[in-house]
Amino acid sequence: MGEKRKPIVSVARNIDISKAVHVALDKIEIPNLSGKTVLLKPNVGREVDPKLGINTNPEVVEAIFNYLRDRYEANYLIGDSPIINTDTQKAFEQSGYNNLLKDDDLQFIDLDELTPVKKEIPNGKILKSIRITGYWHDFDYVISIPVLKMHMHCGASLSFKNMKGLIYRRDKITLHHFQAPEIIKELKKSMSKIKELDIAIADLGNIIFPDLAIIDASYAHEGMGPSSGNLVKLDTIIASTNSLAADIIALAISQPEWSLKDVPHLKLLSEFILPSINSSSDIKTIPDDINEFVEPLEPPPKSITIKYKNVNLIDIDSCSACLSTVFNLLKHNKEFIDEHYTSEKPLNLAIGNGIKKSDLYSDTYLIGNCTSNQKENGTFIQGCTPVESTILKMIKEKLMSDPK
Ligand code: SF4
Repeated sequence: MGEKRKPIVSVARNIDISKAVHVALDKIEIPNLSGKTVLLKPNVGREVDPKLGINTNPEVVEAIFNYLRDRYEANYLIGDSPIINTDTQKAFEQSGYNNLLKDDDLQFIDLDELTPVKKEIPNGKILKSIRITGYWHDFDYVISIPVLKMHMHCGASLSFKNMKGLIYRRDKITLHHFQAPEIIKELKKSMSKIKELDIAIADLGNIIFPDLAIIDASYAHEGMGPSSGNLVKLDTIIASTNSLAADIIALAISQPEWSLKDVPHLKLLSEFILPSINSSSDIKTIPDDINEFVEPLEPPPKSITIKYKNVNLIDIDSCSACLSTVFNLLKHNKEFIDEHYTSEKPLNLAIGNGIKKSDLYSDTYLIGNCTSNQKENGTFIQGCTPVESTILKMIKEKLMSDPK
């Protein structure tokens, strides 16, 4: 591709993150947004405190909003549709967005509050239709503002995956529950890590693509993302009008040893939807040399069982909400678990709606409503998302009635 036709990605770092936002946005060409309806779509998926590298840093979103408002008289909206059982407004408030929500020039919307729009995806490999936010037809311009995160299921979660928040309510979960053995068999020949979830996410690219990607790496998230890893302060912003290009440069900075195959949904997007962009050599960065921004992050763990030798986690088609709950349970109660379980007599946990009887040990905790069809074959703990304290309580009760 000629230098002139390459998509541009700008990268800026500053301890004052609003300055980094300004520098990054000054270097890319944003179209005239005056008169348009513009959605700011941060990742505010959970009710958690700000600056944990879990939800988008409100200081970044505020800087983006101020930058755009100073230049374009647009109708600005901000919203998200969080993970199940999370109140959207409460998630924004707890994550530090109170000031922004009070601004008269910015309208907060809960993306789930209107009747959804059903979209057909004739080119989808496995996702053939999906319901998305009822606001969809109101948007002229969508800005994806994710946190730079490692992700236990997808390798990494960046600006394209952040668009999953436009999917209506629980329809998001359907992406986790496809079975397509023939398609997987074929794709695994070139992408060993691929799962049905990756294909379903990439299928979304046929109907939803952000117009502008601004990746928040003020506080990035390494390891067991999207919510159980560690935050890493990078003070960095990555911006592009090409979402795939922005995501590729975010990976070049955070996982310099990876190829796109390590984030299969991006590889699929590059093969089937944007075939001209395969690697950072197809992208023009500003500055040209981004080596000074490279900060390798801890990748997501391959398996919980490798990390916790006295825990067997049977995870078949769970979503990240259940997996995060389990991982937090293990992280917060390691001492207790080490006291009561060994690698010879481990704690057996199962999550996900693909669990079958033959996957289970005789003493398995079946966690989450997705496992309810196997409730006769273990100790069932209901919830969607199941609650960490309830799981611990049931484990303790069972230990007392039936000590190992
Ligand atoms: S039960 Fe767990 S895996 Fe199933 S949808 Fe709910 S949170 Fe996701």
